[in-house]
Amino acid sequence: MKYISTRGNDGPLGYEEALLSGLARDGGLYLPTSYPRFSDKEIAAMRGLSYAELAGLVMARFTDGEIEADELTAMAADAYAGFDDPAVAPLRHLTGDIHVLELFHGPTIAFKDYAMQFLARAFDRALRRSAQQAVILGATSGDTGSAALEAFQGRDAIDVFILFPEGRVSPVQQRQMTSVIAEGAHAVAVHGDFDDCQAIVKQLFNQHDFRDSVNLSAVNSINWARLMPQIVYYFSAALALGAPQQKVAFSVPTGNFGNVFAGYVARQMGLPIERLIVASNQNDILTRFFEQGAMRREAVNPSLSPSMDIQVSSNFERLLFELLGRDGVETARVMADFAATGKFSLLEAVMVEARSLFSAYRLDDAGTIAEIANTSRDDGMVLDPHSAVGVSAARRAIADGTLPDRTPVVALACAHPAKFQDAVEQATGTLPALPAHLADLMQRPERTHLVEASDSAVKALVLERKRSL
Ligand SMILES: *Cc1c(COP(=O)(O)O)cnc(C)c1O
Repeated sequence: MKYISTRGNDGPLGYEEALLSGLARDGGLYLPTSYPRFSDKEIAAMRGLSYAELAGLVMARFTDGEIEADELTAMAADAYAGFDDPAVAPLRHLTGDIHVLELFHGPTIAFKDYAMQFLARAFDRALRRSAQQAVILGATSGDTGSAALEAFQGRDAIDVFILFPEGRVSPVQQRQMTSVIAEGAHAVAVHGDFDDCQAIVKQLFNQHDFRDSVNLSAVNSINWARLMPQIVYYFSAALALGAPQQKVAFSVPTGNFGNVFAGYVARQMGLPIERLIVASNQNDILTRFFEQGAMRREAVNPSLSPSMDIQVSSNFERLLFELLGRDGVETARVMADFAATGKFSLLEAVMVEARSLFSAYRLDDAGTIAEIANTSRDDGMVLDPHSAVGVSAARRAIADGTLPDRTPVVALACAHPAKFQDAVEQATGTLPALPAHLADLMQRPERTHLVEASDSAVKALVLERKRSL
């Protein structure tokens, strides 16, 4: 299995190289040269596997020749050992054809833990083997950062710096980051929005001297190895609902298009996915794209689901590459256009193909509050605001006839309600309690670095604080 860049000018390279570099040197994102495929028979044989065994089997197709399935299974078992549900990603029936996939059973109670806990072990293994050290630099709209700091803290070979937009993440999210005070783990508050943080990370990755001198690596969802573990829960959910015989749809609350792209890959691998429902909040650039065939950047408008308050969807480039027939030159041209003008549009024929798999919905804050309140009252489940955006989209896709009758729809519940207490309290009148392992979170000591929104300020901080090399 080899990896190439979406911009056509890096690779092919192996799994481990793609893991350690994160973003390709031409500014693109790595993807496998082709998608491995499971037959229906192979999918049927996955029934009854433990979550870790399933993870080993699915991910081994992407590490071909570099890590065997057994070792991946052991890494996944270790990564998910501390999760607070034995099923790791349990599926709950909500109502009618809607099921909720609970992805909040890890240490930071958002779905990012599923990828990040695996990724920390994958990095450790790769760095150990080559006797290297690395600096991990990431931008977060909230949940990635806490998951990364939690997973990577206290590892000798790795310093981790996570940029977050000051004042734009929830108090629980912020404290989950700033309360990680292990050596080599740094929460960095930036005077700006998430897109500023992400732009700084991209700029520093494009400064090759700096990148090489500190062995810079990425763990935000542009890293291919972070998508791999996310593919696994699409398999576990579909298997639980009767795959390969039964087709299943997924509704995915989305911002950076990472989680939903993992669903796309699962489908390319042969999982019978009827439809992928893209669920946006009021920052609806992705929904507008699927409606209009045009991507148009607007200002970020803070919402009750801040992990989706994004206007530049970094992982979307992967779908763009696929929609453009895997033409890296054309993908690079479109991305350059988008960077220069804040917009691009695709041919109608391309959009017809895109819409044959993806549907898109949006939900504003009032709708989010109403969905949390209604689902709590009618179905007895308290959703966090992001999950509510996904459940609402699932309900609408069923109601408007987008899906064939009786297609099970899995709505991804991406965070625990206690991570977004204010919105949930506003909707239900009750403050959702943090799980036991986080009960004292808001009393824990903090450490934060505050910087201006500039690449040079962040670069100076990294050079001053890093221990490695
Ligand atoms: C990260 C995150 C999202 C968005 O996921 P993408 O992969 O960026 O689309 C949605 N909800 C929650 C709770 C998140 O943490």
